[in-house]
Amino acid sequence: MNTLQDRFGRSIDYLRLSVTDRCDLRCSYCIPKGFKDFEEPEYWLTFEEITRVVAAFVRLGTRRVRLTGGEPLLRRNLPQLAASLAALPGLQDLSLSTNATQLARHAESLHAAGVNRVNVSLDSLRRECVNSITGHDSLPQVMAGLQAAKAAGLSPIKINMVAMKGVNEADIETMVGFCIEHGFILRLIEAMPMGDTGRNTSYLDLQPVLEQLRQRFDLLPQSLELGGGPARYWRSTDGAFTLGVITPISQHFCATCNRVRLSVDGTLYMCLGQEERFALRPLLRAGISDAGLEMAIREAIELKPERHEFREKPGKLIRIMSMTGG
Ligand code: SAM
Repeated sequence: MNTLQDRFGRSIDYLRLSVTDRCDLRCSYCIPKGFKDFEEPEYWLTFEEITRVVAAFVRLGTRRVRLTGGEPLLRRNLPQLAASLAALPGLQDLSLSTNATQLARHAESLHAAGVNRVNVSLDSLRRECVNSITGHDSLPQVMAGLQAAKAAGLSPIKINMVAMKGVNEADIETMVGFCIEHGFILRLIEAMPMGDTGRNTSYLDLQPVLEQLRQRFDLLPQSLELGGGPARYWRSTDGAFTLGVITPISQHFCATCNRVRLSVDGTLYMCLGQEERFALRPLLRAGISDAGLEMAIREAIELKPERHEFREKPGKLIRIMSMTGG
């Protein structure tokens, strides 16, 4: 079988696909307030172009694709794209990352189109805290979105919570209770120094947090992969609660990195924290063949760096998360 391997022997079988760099929220660690530098629509890959690129990745062994952004639900007719991707022979897992403000309207059509699971960003269950982090009073819509996702049969549902010192650190325990009650998997994420917004975020080391939660909820490490991503998972002995921790700063996981990201303008980014990239749009618009596209992807993978340097060089990256596709 065809597979993609980088210079460090890592298999690349996971593509994160940004369908827009726009978002209806302004999370304090992501898009700055007043930000205007969004990609021009003429440079957005069309659904046909995206499907061609994803099909090439799938022929090269990619088995999992995640729709992300910006906020992916802002891209019009997303279920139509999801359906074309889900129909690609060989693709096993099509998932979505969303802030869920519009999920109530779209959950059912996305599930019907072939999206099987969803990750929802939610940093607190306190309305005023969500308002202050996201710049919008969005908690009621997010709750409605979560309910709709559950009703539509999207499973598992994971909650992505960026944990910040002095901001929502004290909300972690309430969030655990909420996830247990609803059968959601909680994933705690360390803030990354992406752009000034990311750098100005009050970092919380998740190692001590994990230690406390382990004791409090009797958590055991899970060896099984729950999504093939960077999270390390823990489960309570009674099986009622699953916790994922994503620790790019305190314990990076670059050695097992299996992904690249395609941004809305058709640029392949090799690492969230580095500049290596490869522009596919000019090739697509110049009429490259399928074989040529596969060769270009192989060439791009050669550029994948060994690791990010968030810790050593936190000032390095001016690109905010939504530009690459989080
Ligand atoms: N809008 C979608 C969502 O909310 O999931 C998809 C894109 S969003 C950029 C993806 C994830 O990146 C979110 O969970 C968000 O919290 C996270 N994120 C954005 N900037 C971050 C940063 N500087 N550090 C850590 N996580 C960040």
